[in-house]
Amino acid sequence: MSESENHDVSVPCASFVDVAIVGAGLVGASLACALDALGLRTLLVEASAGGTQPAPSFDERNLALGKASVNALASLGVWRHIRTAPEAIRRVHVSSRGDFGSVLLAATDHGLDAFGAVVIARELGAALEARLDELKHLQRLRPARVSAVTSSAEAATLCIESPGGEIREVRTRLLVAADGSHSAIRESLGIAAKHHDYRQRLFVATATAEREHQGGAWERFTPDGPVAVLPLGGGRLGSICTVAAEQADAVAALDDDAYRELLQSRFGYRLGRINRVGKRSHYPLALIKSEQLVAERTVLVGNAAQTLHPIGAQGFNLGLRDALTLAEVLETALGQGREPGQIDDLREYARRREPDREETLRFSDGLSRLFAITDPAVRLARSLGFGALNGIPGLAERLAAGAMGFRGDVPRLALGAAVAERSA
Ligand SMILES: Cc1cc2nc3c(=O)[nH]c(=O)nc-3n(C[C@H](O)[C@H](O)[C@H](O)COP(=O)(O)OP(=O)(O)OC[C@H]3O[C@@H](n4cnc5c(N)ncnc54)[C@H](O)[C@@H]3O)c2cc1C
Repeated sequence: MSESENHDVSVPCASFVDVAIVGAGLVGASLACALDALGLRTLLVEASAGGTQPAPSFDERNLALGKASVNALASLGVWRHIRTAPEAIRRVHVSSRGDFGSVLLAATDHGLDAFGAVVIARELGAALEARLDELKHLQRLRPARVSAVTSSAEAATLCIESPGGEIREVRTRLLVAADGSHSAIRESLGIAAKHHDYRQRLFVATATAEREHQGGAWERFTPDGPVAVLPLGGGRLGSICTVAAEQADAVAALDDDAYRELLQSRFGYRLGRINRVGKRSHYPLALIKSEQLVAERTVLVGNAAQTLHPIGAQGFNLGLRDALTLAEVLETALGQGREPGQIDDLREYARRREPDREETLRFSDGLSRLFAITDPAVRLARSLGFGALNGIPGLAERLAAGAMGFRGDVPRLALGAAVAERSA
C-alpha cells in the first residue's frame, strides 16, 4: 500500500494489512488516529456510507467526556476539529429523590478548571472524520460490511461485502473488533458475552431552563429511574431521562410540553423551571460484557468489549482507554521487533484493561441498580453514604479521578498536559 491511501472509495484494497479495524464508530475511528503515529498499514471498514449517512452513534446524544478523554483526543489531533466549543464540566451534583444529603464535586476543590467537557456525538464524529482524512497510513472501506472472519495463529481473514454484493477477502496480522454492542466479529469467533436487559429506555433531548447551568452537571436518581442534565453551549442543557421499557411508547408519544413536565417532575427545580425541550430520541439499555477481550490475532475494543448503562457517562471514555492501551501495547511490541497481533502482546492488552473495565462496569451497573431500590433501610444507608462522601478525606478526590478517567493504569496519551509537563 502506498503512503497515502486514505480514501472512502471502493477501490481494490490491499489484501494483506498490519491491522484491520472493523467499525469506524467513536472508538474504532479514535483507534485509527492513534495507530497512524506507529506507521502501521491499517484498514478501517465501516458499514455506514458517510456524508449524510454517518456512523449510527454520530447522533444527537450528549457525551460527557472525562479530562483523560479530552487530553487524549487533543493529543490525537481530533479535538481541534470540533466546530462548536465543547462546554466544560466544572461541578458534578449527585442526589436521590426522597433521600437526605447529596454529593457535590467542584473542579476547583481539586485544583482543576474542569472535570471534563460535554460534546454532542455528531460533532465529535465529524471531528474524527476530519482527522481520519489527514492520516497517512490509513485505508478506508465504506460502505462495506464484514460478513465473516476466521483467525489462526498467523493471521485473521476478513470477508468484506460492498452494498453492490462485491465480496473481497483481506488478511491481517491483527483484527480489531470495534463493531459495537452486537459485534458480529465477537459472535463469528465464538466469543461468549453476558447480557443483562435493564428493561429501560433512555430518552435524550436538549432543553433550556430558567437558571444558567454555570458548568454544572446533575445526576438525580428517582424510583422511576435516573435522570441527568449536562451543560451545553449557548446556555442549553442536555437531558437524559430513563423510563421503564413498558412506558417507553407512551413517553415517546408525549407532546413536547407533556415531556417537559415529566422531565421537570423527575429532575426537580435545581435550575428553576424547564422552559423548553427539543427533539427527543431514545435508546434501549443493556449491559453486555464479552467474556474474552482477545482471541488468536483478534482484540475487542469499545462497545464490542463491553456496553454499559449510560447513566455513569463512561462507555466511550472506557472504550477510548481500550484504544489508547492497545496502541501503547503495539508500540512497545514494534519497538521490541515484534509484528502486531502476537498472542503475548494481546494477553498484555487484556491484562492491562481488566481492572479498569471491571471497576467501571461495577460502577455503572451499581449506579443503575442501587438507586432503583426503594427499601427504607437501603435508602437510609444511601443517605448516610451521601453525607459521608462529603466528609471522608480523599474519597471525593478518588471519585473525581474516576469521573475524569484517571483510573488505574492510565494510558500515556490520556495524561495529556501531565506528560508535557514531565517531559518539559
Ligand atoms: C444515549 C447515550 C448516551 C451516552 N452518553 C455517554 C457519555 O456521556 N459518555 C460516554 O463516555 N459514553 C456515553 N455513551 C456511550 C457511547 O456512546 C458508546 O460507548 C460509544 O458510542 C461506543 O463506540 P464504539 O465505536 O465502540 O461502538 P459504536 O459507536 O456502536 O460503533 C460501531 C460501528 O461499527 C460499525 N459496524 C458494525 N458492524 C459492522 C460490520 N460487520 N462491518 C463494518 N462495520 C460495522 C457500525 O456501523 C458502527 O459505526 C452513551 C450512549 C448512549 C446510547
